[in-house]
Parts: sequence; structure tokens; C-alpha cells
Amino acid sequence: MKQFWNFSAGPSVLPKVVLQQAADEMLDWQGSGQSVMEMSHRGAEFTQICTEAEADLAKLLGVGEEWAVLFMQGGATAQNAILPMNLLDLKEAQTADYVLTGSWSNKAYKEAVGYGELRIAASSGDSRVIDGVEYKPWHWLPEFSEWRVNPEASYLHYCSNETIGGVEFADLPNKEQIGAENVPLVLDVSSHFLARDWDLNKVDMLYAGAQKNAGPAGITVIVIRRELLGKCRSVCPDVFNYQKVAEANSCFNTPPTYSIYIAGLVYKWLLAQGGLAAVEQKNKAKAQLLYDYVDSTDFYNNFVQPEHRSIMNVPFIIHDAALDAKFLAGAKEQGLLNLKGHKSVGGMRASIYNAMPIEGVEALVAYMKDFERQNG
Ligand SMILES: *Cc1c(COP(=O)(O)O)cnc(C)c1O
Repeated sequence: MKQFWNFSAGPSVLPKVVLQQAADEMLDWQGSGQSVMEMSHRGAEFTQICTEAEADLAKLLGVGEEWAVLFMQGGATAQNAILPMNLLDLKEAQTADYVLTGSWSNKAYKEAVGYGELRIAASSGDSRVIDGVEYKPWHWLPEFSEWRVNPEASYLHYCSNETIGGVEFADLPNKEQIGAENVPLVLDVSSHFLARDWDLNKVDMLYAGAQKNAGPAGITVIVIRRELLGKCRSVCPDVFNYQKVAEANSCFNTPPTYSIYIAGLVYKWLLAQGGLAAVEQKNKAKAQLLYDYVDSTDFYNNFVQPEHRSIMNVPFIIHDAALDAKFLAGAKEQGLLNLKGHKSVGGMRASIYNAMPIEGVEALVAYMKDFERQNG
């Protein structure tokens, strides 16, 4: 069988063993006589699947009872509105701070503007010279020390991995460092959720569309401190009220049951590898292999500030954009799929999520070398 490697930004590659188990259990889940898709979301079987998925996820993240793990719908995009409806009234001032670093954080900001007064705590929306190199807007990141956070803000929002630009905050800020001792930190982690072993004591809420790195499309994962629940605006639909979803164990109404089942299998697969510390090491090794090669030649180029390059989404260009189509066609022939860059950036993008083994990155680098030899 021909070997394929899928570099799609999302929906994206899933672990082969997970897909195989799902295939084996498709018609009859563990002797229940039903496919997971056919089960009542209130029945004992699905309740077990959902409870286990939440518990495994909490275990992976190292969060205890003081946190709620929620599965919702609407994607990360819906969260951009659901978030302010739930948290903007945490404090009297009904205001929130946003850090702007690329497409997704800007979308989050624009969506939330309708719900209250917002401030921009930091932005990479200008070009900047760093160590003698000029970086274009959204191709670098404002350091934590530059963030100016309003202490009266109900929360501070940022996107920790910009999927399109390929810029990533590798670490979490310390709240004192950014002057946010009493401001909850909310992160859109969609495209590097479960890619790094973070100390979540430093933050207050994460959200992620599962389809990037943690499962199939259809579920949005919210991990939130329970102390933040209960200040939801009354205009917010009940299905989007974090407290009500938490009280109902993510089954306030019919959840996307099959997506939860697959995501649960992904969590078990990650736990079996030794958890997120082991996963992060593998991810770093994959990213380094690709960046090292891109940096070793003038034929390809990655235009992101080196300290903030994403280990998940690696955009790169060929020095002569006229070669892009040929590169992509040849890649497809070699079984290297979905490498076309986002239309706003151009060039190529390799998304090397958790489920992409290092062999896939090796195959990509081998093809890139070969293409350079023939066209350089
Ligand atoms: C893809 C993506 C989104 C949008 O996700 P949907 O699930 O399609 O709404 C938001 N933020 C980030 C960082 C993303 O990568």
C-alpha cells in the first residue's frame, strides 16, 4: 500500500491506531450491539465514553477537581462570542484585554467587540526589526514583558499558536510578569492543544477546536476553572452557558457523540505514550528537523522570528514562487498531502500535529531536498 502523509492544517491527521480501533468497533461497540453513533447520549454506554474522555483529558493536562472539562459545539469560532457572554461580567468594569498576534486572535477580538469595551494589551500588527532582521506584521510576537494588562479587565485573551502565521508562544506567562495578578488568562490553544506539557496553574481557561490536534471536527474543548462559572449573561443561550454545560457533564443537549468518542481514543493514545512531556519531546524533534533544513538553504525560507516559530504549523516559501505549483504537484505524487499554504500567506505550510510521526517529516524533508536539487 502506498504511504501517505497528511500535512493538513485542519481537519487533520489522526493516529492510525485510533482510526483502526474506530473501524473495528464501528458496527458494534464493545459487544453493546450498537455503533457509538446509534447510542443514546443518556445511556450507560455513552455516559461511560464521555466520562472517560473527560477524565483522561483532565489526567493528560494534570488538572484536578477545581477545573471543569467541557465538550461543546460551534468550534473555536463560536467560543469567540461565547467567551465574552460568559466572562465579561466577572468584574464591575465589564471590559477585557486582548493580545493581537495574527489571524485568529484578531478574529476573536473582532467578535468580542460587540459585547463590551475591549483593550489591546499588546500587538504584533506592525513590522519590527529584531536583531537586525525586519519581520513583517504578525511574523513576530510581543514579549510578555511588553504586555500592558488592565488590572480591571475581566479576562485577558490571547491565541497561543497562530495556525496561519506559524507563530507560537512556547511558554505561558507568569501573571506578575505581565501585571495580571488578578486577571484570568484565557487562551485559544486550538492548533497546539495537547502538544506541550504546560503548568496550567498559570492560566484560567483554554479552548480548542478539536480538529486541529485533538480529535475530529465537531467538538470544541473548554478547560476552565470552576470559580469562573456562574457570571454568564442572561442573554446567552443555555447551551453556551459554561456553568449549565458543566452541570450537565457536557450533555446539556445532544452532544456530537461520535466526535467525543474519537477524541477520547486520542486521549488514551496520548496517555499510552507517556503523557504530554513525552509528546512535547517528539514534537520538538519533528519541528527541528524541518526548520533546520529550511534554514540550511536559501532555496526555502521561513519568515517567522526564530524564537517564536510554531512547532505545529510550519509555513515556508520557495525563493521563486513560480515553482510552488510544481512543488505541490510533485509532493502529492509522493503521497505528501495538503501542503499548500494559507491563501493569506501563500507558499507552503506543513502542519505536523501530534499524530504526524517523525517518519512523515523525514519524508517531507527528503522530498524538499530532492526538489531543490532538481530546481535549484
Ligand atoms: C482553526 C482555528 C480556529 C477556528 O476554529 P473552528 O473550529 O473552525 O471555529 C480558531 N482559532 C485557531 C487558533 C484555529 O487554529
